[in-house]
Amino acid sequence: MTANARAQVRLERDGDVAVIWIDNPPINAGSAAVRAGLLNAIDEVARDERIVAAVLIGAGTTFIAGSDIREFGQPLAEPQLPMVIAAIEACPKPFVAALHGAALGGGFELALGCDARIAAPETVVGLPEVTLGIIPGAGGTQRLPRLVGVPRALAMICSGERVKGAAALAASLVDQIAEGNLCNAAVAHARSLAGRKHRLRELSVLAGEPQAVADAVAAALKAGKNRPAVVAAIDAIKASALQDFDTALAGERAAFQQLRTSREASALRHQFFAERESAKHPELLGAATRTVQTIAVIGAGTMGTGIAIAALDAGYGVLLLEQDGGALDRGGSRIREHYAARVSARKMATDVAQSRQESLRTSLQWNDIAEADLVIEAVFEDLDVKREVFARIDGLARPGAVLASNTSYLDLDAIAAATSRPQDVIGLHFFSPANVMRLMEVVRGQATAPDALATGLAVAKKLGKLPLLTGNAFGFVGNRLYAAYRRQCEFLVEEGAWPEQVDAALQHFGFSMGPFAVADLSGLDIAWRMRQAQAATRDPAARYVHVADRLCEAGRLGRKTGAGYYRYAEGNKPMVDEAVHALIEQARAEKGITPRIISDEEIVRRVLLALANEAALLLAEGVASHATDVDLALVNGYGFPRWEGGVVFWARERGETALSADFAWLAEISGPGSRIGDPRPLLASSR
Ligand code: NAD
Repeated sequence: MTANARAQVRLERDGDVAVIWIDNPPINAGSAAVRAGLLNAIDEVARDERIVAAVLIGAGTTFIAGSDIREFGQPLAEPQLPMVIAAIEACPKPFVAALHGAALGGGFELALGCDARIAAPETVVGLPEVTLGIIPGAGGTQRLPRLVGVPRALAMICSGERVKGAAALAASLVDQIAEGNLCNAAVAHARSLAGRKHRLRELSVLAGEPQAVADAVAAALKAGKNRPAVVAAIDAIKASALQDFDTALAGERAAFQQLRTSREASALRHQFFAERESAKHPELLGAATRTVQTIAVIGAGTMGTGIAIAALDAGYGVLLLEQDGGALDRGGSRIREHYAARVSARKMATDVAQSRQESLRTSLQWNDIAEADLVIEAVFEDLDVKREVFARIDGLARPGAVLASNTSYLDLDAIAAATSRPQDVIGLHFFSPANVMRLMEVVRGQATAPDALATGLAVAKKLGKLPLLTGNAFGFVGNRLYAAYRRQCEFLVEEGAWPEQVDAALQHFGFSMGPFAVADLSGLDIAWRMRQAQAATRDPAARYVHVADRLCEAGRLGRKTGAGYYRYAEGNKPMVDEAVHALIEQARAEKGITPRIISDEEIVRRVLLALANEAALLLAEGVASHATDVDLALVNGYGFPRWEGGVVFWARERGETALSADFAWLAEISGPGSRIGDPRPLLASSR
């Protein structure tokens, strides 16, 4: 029987207690059919005199873990959730929500509408609506403050925090943890409540100290970057203490309805769907994954240690190998310091930190590679060095082990060719810091076997990453986009904008930092060396901005030298430097460029267009797997504002005709060497 043909809600009886099962796999989403089924069941509980209490419980692996995504952005079908919760409250018999898996969003609001909540130990609860640009719209902002107080409700709702098991009990989000059979425990609890009602709406709000509320508001606004959903959530939660329940509830619903149709909510839904899309790889269907338990990481530098930590945290055994004893010691210390800092910040229990470190072995002897199921190389970014390392790995690794390179730019096929098993070689491009950044590119070489690739994707998931499958091309998806972005910003400077204007305009748009401040932070020398290496093969007719080279030649390598595009004094705050202006003016004069005034609007427009154009080229070349992967890369790896959706989201709003004209305009203004992408593949939504 299909899910649709089966009743999504069914009422069973355990003596005098009704057990209402919600059965809408895979996540028991609160669809219109579920809501209608719940209303019927609640009605039966109210009418049947033999029933004294009821339990709401999810069939399968979870309670209601989220909304029905088919309703995202669409008009809501009747009956709506507030009506269901109102019926539970109006029913004179008590309801107990029996939670397992996840009770999120509308699922947790439904639980808050019940008289009590009882949860299996690992249950996760939360109201993550703001992450989709909306607020809880079925009483969450009103009932939660009655349960946990205004300051805690502010923190939880404004961040979309999810709280698990024991922590949920400690915070009073659930009343009891059921160690044994959840349904039996919930039935017993419901029976014990017979004859009494515990409506949360009847409790007075735990307002909290004014200072605690003010602090929670300030923290929420800061972390939530003043986004409209966060502001609306704050207003709604504060209203719980200022207005009567029904007035505040109506205010919450109105704000929810208004936010649902906002551009921001649509951009955030785009990001949500892009993540689902990024995991679809029809060409890998049926490819088995190879078992991975032990990972060898080669190179204990910045990336190698971050990768080792990520792998230890995911439960892998890790072997960290080096060529240099000093580098190995430094890498080992960095890992120990990381765990010590986690423990002292109370982010990790001492015994957990201890057991993670016990899964790590560091060594200069590479023979142990034979134990590894996956080898990740993170040595210097130099093709000869990497080829030498891969040849050595090839001689030691067991047959069938997956061999991965963390290269940022180098040709994966040239690396794979140094081995006798190119079918086992993949790219695993982590971003820095590797144990923090969610984005990861999983790169397919020409000879890569589907199961090696599928294994890379599966390991990435287990590491908690957002993996994007990419083709093997210089810079893959992310760094290629970023290069196009940087290039366009340099053009803008050459034509008349100052670096600080470009940075400010893009930060105002929402980027976490401007490109020139980022360049100073990461150091200008790496890109300088790369430009020098490419000088011989560069198209001499293509437009080339010399400013960055001049800065490097003057010893201005960024923050580490106290100067780059900005000057840095105490506190590392970037300061505008007239010497940089002079250097830029000189570079313009040498090319005979008369500077013009460039508006902030033009800066943002050209950056978005440059990114969209590069996205079109990446798609045409088959480097990006899905158009929307571009938006995931920008948001999760490069500080692009999530609430703007991404450049593909933006391009789809512009439409084909406007975008074609825009691309042509961009190519003209960018000058020789510009390539124009075909916008059409960007615009085709697969949904
Ligand atoms: P790093 O200089 O911090 O570390 C490299 C380490 O590799 C050093 O400890 C060195 O001793 C070791 N090493 C060098 N040659 C070796 C050999 N033959 N055998 C064993 N160990 C050797 O460099 P990093 O920043 O960690 O970068 C490593 C790789 O990760 C590069 O390919 C880089 O492009 C890539 N990457 C770096 C970043 C970043 O932001 N730093 C981001 C993504 C990818």
